[in-house]
Amino acid sequence: MTPCPECYSDRPRITPLLNPRACLERHEQYVCGTCGRCICIAKDPVRGLQRWQFPFKSAPIALLYLRAAEASTRRSCGVYGLRSESGRASFKIFPGRDALEAYLARNPGKACIGRVANAAREGYRAFPDAQVRMLAADEVERYLAEQAAASGSR
Ligand SMILES: [Zn+2]
Ligand SMILES: [Zn+2]
Repeated sequence: MTPCPECYSDRPRITPLLNPRACLERHEQYVCGTCGRCICIAKDPVRGLQRWQFPFKSAPIALLYLRAAEASTRRSCGVYGLRSESGRASFKIFPGRDALEAYLARNPGKACIGRVANAAREGYRAFPDAQVRMLAADEVERYLAEQAAASGSR
């Protein structure tokens, strides 16, 4: 399957990755207007950040949240690899090079190890069929069933 032109994933039910029911029932979602994939776009009540603003373990996982970042910031965003002083790698989404530079200035222990290739299209693009909203109960059930079917067939 080719990656979705809107949300960049070729697996339209891969997210939410962890505790999908809780996420779908309690958190606002970016519903991809092209493939229907739900991407958590809610702000964490404790830390005040959206999921896409947290560090990710891998570039492919970060890529799953890239479209939520773009929809939130209305900018073309990129996934960047970071390395801590201890040598640990992580991946973060930034809405542009200037945001990355500002982060590195605030976090002198971190170094950028490069932007993940092909992570973003050039320029911000709006997709009119996308929705940002809470799911209805029946939509949650349908999505979870589709997610279970998709993971079973892989
Ligand atoms: Zn969530
Ligand atoms: Zn999509």
